[in-house]
Amino acid sequence: MHVEKIYLDHAATTPVLTEVFNAMKDVYLEHFGNASSVHSLGQDAKELLEQSRETVARSFGVLPEEIVFTGSGTEADNIAIQGTAFKQKGQGKGNHVITSNIEHPAVQQTCRYLEKFGFRITEAPVDEDGIVDLDRFQDAIEPETVLATVMNANNEIGTIQPIREIGEILADKGIIFHTDAVQAFGKIPINPETDGFQLLSASAHKIYGPKGVGILYLKGCGKDADGNPYLQPIMGGGGHESGWRSATENVPGIVGTAKAVEIAFQELEEQANRETRLRDRLIDAILDTIPNTVLNGHRTKRLPNNANISFEGVDGEALLLRLDVAGYEVSTGSACASHGAKASHVLQALGRDPRTMQGSLRMTIGRSTTTEQIEAFLADLGPIVEDLRALSQKI
Ligand code: PLP
Repeated sequence: MHVEKIYLDHAATTPVLTEVFNAMKDVYLEHFGNASSVHSLGQDAKELLEQSRETVARSFGVLPEEIVFTGSGTEADNIAIQGTAFKQKGQGKGNHVITSNIEHPAVQQTCRYLEKFGFRITEAPVDEDGIVDLDRFQDAIEPETVLATVMNANNEIGTIQPIREIGEILADKGIIFHTDAVQAFGKIPINPETDGFQLLSASAHKIYGPKGVGILYLKGCGKDADGNPYLQPIMGGGGHESGWRSATENVPGIVGTAKAVEIAFQELEEQANRETRLRDRLIDAILDTIPNTVLNGHRTKRLPNNANISFEGVDGEALLLRLDVAGYEVSTGSACASHGAKASHVLQALGRDPRTMQGSLRMTIGRSTTTEQIEAFLADLGPIVEDLRALSQKI
């Protein structure tokens, strides 16, 4: 068995790239000013902040003014969802929000929080492959609908949602469209011109940037074609980030984020192709060689780095722990979901029976994953699964 640790949990988080670390180190040590300070050290930091905004905007193909740095992907989701919902309701436009039933808790729980303030939430269902059912989505639209929030790609099963089609359904209905792209940003092409969303959230730590920096894209700087804001800030404070997110900016983290975004977009196609090959080898080999296994999520409409498989008759936690001892770091669901023992709402949404759901493993590939690592993992996985199945039959 392997002793060297092999990390296959890149959907939970990624290691910071050396280039990112070096870029941040200089800022921490040399350019530590507060970007709001008037003296030169402060203005130095302000310049780095604005250069970073430009880099992110250029990589993504949007305007620098449309990029807001936040404290996390979760915070970007909250500003987008709460900020829009409260603004729209305050203008008397309605109190209904549509989302999907496989969202990350950052979106799902934020929508449920809105219910306390008189909002009604419809969770549009996904099909058995984990793709939002467009007919059911369309049926959910009401005259009172002010916001739709649907993730770009799922964090557990990696399925990529039909964002452009959803954008087309929503176009001209006056419904603001937010997409949580925390797992998709920098990994698959996203086109802010044609995909029809106004708001997008991303997070640096999923793309080899630092933890604790999020990105919120606001089309038209948060204003509609008539120049009226379609959302409002959710925190009071000093008016940083054009008022959208008050708090002293984390300039070192933001500089690191810009470097991570730049590299992710420059190498997107190359990395996606490489990771897709490894992912396909992993999925095919498991399904072909280990009996009673089921792939969760669509076979091809999935993130290049995600494999999520259920092993019938195996306890997922036990499998994770056995793999950990053998040197492989994987996940049973999303990092957040695995704190609680609750069955994954995402697998439930696919209609999986409880016995199958219990033994699900998420394996997510990254930049440093090699063919040798995948082959070593495959060589060890089969015997461990067999062993656990034999044990559970004895109990
Ligand atoms: N949305 C999705 C789809 C995620 O996968 C995550 C993190 O796992 C988040 C939101 C939250 O991002 P952050 O960890 O930056 O708060």
